[in-house]
Amino acid sequence: MSPLGARPRGAASAPRHACGVFGVYAPGQPVSQLTYLGLFALQHRGQESAGIAVSDGQTITVVKDMGLVTQVFDERTLASLQGHLAVGHTRYSTTGSSSWQNAQPVYRSVGDAGFALGHNGNLTNTAELAAELGMLPGMVGERSRVDSTTDSALVAELIARAWPAEARSDGRDLERSLEAVLPRLQGAFSFVLMDDSHLIGVRDPHGFWPLVLGRLDGGGWVLASETAALDIIGAHHVRDVQPGEMVVIDATGLRREHRYAEGDPRLCLFEFVYFARPDTRLYGQSVHAARRRMGEELARQAPVAADMVMPVPESGVPAAQGYARVSGIPYGDGLVKNRYVGRTFIEPTPQLRGLGVRLKLNPLREAIEGKRLVVVDDSIVRGTTTRQVVAMLREAGAEEVHFRVSSPPYRWPCHYGMDTGRRGELLAADLSVGEIREYLGVDSLAYLELDRLRRATGAQPSAFCTACLTGEYPVPVADADGDRKRVLEEPFLDLRPVDAAG
Ligand code: SF4
Repeated sequence: MSPLGARPRGAASAPRHACGVFGVYAPGQPVSQLTYLGLFALQHRGQESAGIAVSDGQTITVVKDMGLVTQVFDERTLASLQGHLAVGHTRYSTTGSSSWQNAQPVYRSVGDAGFALGHNGNLTNTAELAAELGMLPGMVGERSRVDSTTDSALVAELIARAWPAEARSDGRDLERSLEAVLPRLQGAFSFVLMDDSHLIGVRDPHGFWPLVLGRLDGGGWVLASETAALDIIGAHHVRDVQPGEMVVIDATGLRREHRYAEGDPRLCLFEFVYFARPDTRLYGQSVHAARRRMGEELARQAPVAADMVMPVPESGVPAAQGYARVSGIPYGDGLVKNRYVGRTFIEPTPQLRGLGVRLKLNPLREAIEGKRLVVVDDSIVRGTTTRQVVAMLREAGAEEVHFRVSSPPYRWPCHYGMDTGRRGELLAADLSVGEIREYLGVDSLAYLELDRLRRATGAQPSAFCTACLTGEYPVPVADADGDRKRVLEEPFLDLRPVDAAG
């Protein structure tokens, strides 16, 4: 077997997100149902577990379980969650195991009070904080009251320890504790928190993951990972929670808009490329329109003679439309996606894993037979799916396959909350574009250049994290020796586009 064929690969080929968060403060409105709908809109951000915490002003009730939002909640459960204030969470695990204990919202009681926390992101100083608290990774339950292994549980523990010994009559203990804890956190976090009468939203100073503030028509405030979750419940987008900002909502409305740290915006660039729903707006820009512009830029940068432009559905659709528009090559569908494939709960044996792509995507032979194809996708992370898609297209009679990717090679792992696996699992970690072309078995391959990608977003080009593409991390991360660095070293790789001859 060639060295390429022998490369270790994870079961999943696409990047997976960490979480979606949602919160609503709306007396007189069905807050648990609104949270359910908000989480349903954010389901793409995490499919392992879902949870809702609701307060009626006296008691906080939390329901959470493994599975999709629709599997965890039914009408009866939602009807039993009465209150005026709720937070919700959908999770994909990037720290801690995939288990009920690690599902969120995390609830902590502190004396007579309690609070619930939902977290999107990863801290980068978890080990240091755990050591400070006298907790050992993986053994935290034996050493303290923390009963799960996530960095989110660690944050809850920090807040609980910062809680004033004497509760004040103004009921702002959660806010004060949080203010004491936030300067100690490093890395990526968009939090929604609640006690029995306050809803709080917080974004880390770089704003790696989005968090928006919305307003309900009938009164009430909403926090959500994406604007699409506001749309789905009929809320208006008021503004983004700013990097380094904490907002506090209570019976008086949006009571506090507090900058706890200077912001240096570095939104994850992959929110534009892949993660966010196309109907979401980021930095005031339509994600769908930005993805079309990425395809247009790709056509200008890497033209090729072909008969049809087709997407890898559904993630590649807008970029393929953009590529077709600029190139003048007809757009067509060459792969049919099964809309009903979610989690299959099938053990990933090698034999079944091979079937996995066919379960999701099947070629349309009559559309592709004898044709020279431009196939557009938004990213290649591990490359397993792409390789199988190319093989299926060739089996179905494609004459040529030219692969175009609307983002640059993904070469360093994300430490901020997106799961791509270890560096050794990333296809482009130590392969040139020429070697990747060979591995995928395509006639030509091109990745969109970083400057073109940033321009296509329509946003300020410097306001992005690009660490997984450049190795330049806005918040220092540990290298292979455990030393904290902003820039991880790399061997020189030739990243120019290539065709079969080149
Ligand atoms: S490293 Fe990549 S995936 Fe992670 S936040 Fe930065 S741009 Fe996003």
